[in-house]
Amino acid sequence: MGRVRVLLISKKMLFIILVVINVIFFLAWFNLKDVETTFSGTVYRPIVVIDPGHGGVDSGAVFENIMEKDITLDISLHIRDLLQKKDIPFVLTRESDIDLGGELTKGRHKRDLLARRQIINQGKIAVSIHVNTIDDHREEGAVVFYAEGSKEGEKLATSILNELGKIQKLNYHQPIPRSNLFLLRTSTPPMVLVELGFISNKEDRVKLLNSDFRKKCAQAIVQGIQVYLETII
Ligand SMILES: [Zn+2]
Repeated sequence: MGRVRVLLISKKMLFIILVVINVIFFLAWFNLKDVETTFSGTVYRPIVVIDPGHGGVDSGAVFENIMEKDITLDISLHIRDLLQKKDIPFVLTRESDIDLGGELTKGRHKRDLLARRQIINQGKIAVSIHVNTIDDHREEGAVVFYAEGSKEGEKLATSILNELGKIQKLNYHQPIPRSNLFLLRTSTPPMVLVELGFISNKEDRVKLLNSDFRKKCAQAIVQGIQVYLETII
């Protein structure tokens, strides 16, 4: 009898242990599932978040029939390919022509930003890709913004701006601190917003519609990211 009882307790214990293990695995999976991305069959947390500005119903800047959302997506997909080649873990806030705001009701824009921020907060750094438009068609060149007060954001912005300066005119030769851009202001990781040029400017427009130039922009941004990452890893 004694032995049987011991055996029964053991089975109960075994059952409890299995349940506990299952719960632990479930909780681990539940906690991680939002921040994991599969890449080459392995699971990892993204280091770099790329945010292709706008998308879906949100065209961003428009000049004639040129839409910012198309240019930002194309360049971001080049960035994605380069990060993949370099084995730098990444995630994109979007990889197609969509917005993240859900249905077209009041608050869509805010929901879009919040959804982007949720993805951005998974990374160690984030880069949002944009192009500009302005009434004064003489304005040209790239601008890089970072969150005012963020030392790391400023470092990342400087690193990207240095690389962009090799392939594109700069509208402003220093990164610009901003306190009124929602994603920059409220995201957790160091984040920069890159404006690659003005589609309202003829020379920039020709460049931004050129596929080789877009690839160069992607290379410069990835190079800037790499230089920055080497300072923190
Ligand atoms: Zn934009």
